[in-house]
Amino acid sequence: MQLRYATNLAVDQYIDRKAWRDAKLDYCPLHPKGGCRFAKHGTYPRKFPDGVKIARWYCPDGSATFSMLPDCLSSRLPGTLVEVENIINQIEKSSSQEAAAENIRLDISLPSALRWMRLRLFLIRLTLTLLIDLVTSLGDCQPTVSSFRSVLGIEFVLPRLRMLASPYLDILPPPLGFGPRPEAKKSKKYHYQHKTGTDPP
Ligand SMILES: [Zn+2]
Repeated sequence: MQLRYATNLAVDQYIDRKAWRDAKLDYCPLHPKGGCRFAKHGTYPRKFPDGVKIARWYCPDGSATFSMLPDCLSSRLPGTLVEVENIINQIEKSSSQEAAAENIRLDISLPSALRWMRLRLFLIRLTLTLLIDLVTSLGDCQPTVSSFRSVLGIEFVLPRLRMLASPYLDILPPPLGFGPRPEAKKSKKYHYQHKTGTDPP
């Protein structure tokens, strides 16, 4: 289970200070009254960015692991929220998704780059749309990064939204929230095609 490690450290500062050592989880989220064998369970590394570690706890009685994700990092996607925000911002400013892809991912083919970008765009647009409904102070925003930036008056909105959305993180999709990744249309289409393909004529 992912939990929020509230910190305004940028990822470089988080790594330099080894700030995962300062993460605190005072009681077991499954047994807040105590009585279980909840204990610190070391750290685990993330591949991106290099050097990042996440503090972890474990409750053997609930067979559950709890990791404290700092506000700078994406959940269920590699890298940071600022990196995701930069991608969405580039897509919003580009004349087309194809044009944006040429600036964002030169290392992979165009179809792969578009798929990579569209997953992030889909997840962030959905998250921003939900937040407009959930958080009163965001009610005047449009579901774009540029609109959230101008309403909040800050350069990077996603790390701040991790904070503003903290009561809703369990229901919001990644990379901002800690909820499940929603089924994209593509997988439904796949199931549909698969079904029709295997049905007898
Ligand atoms: Zn417990």
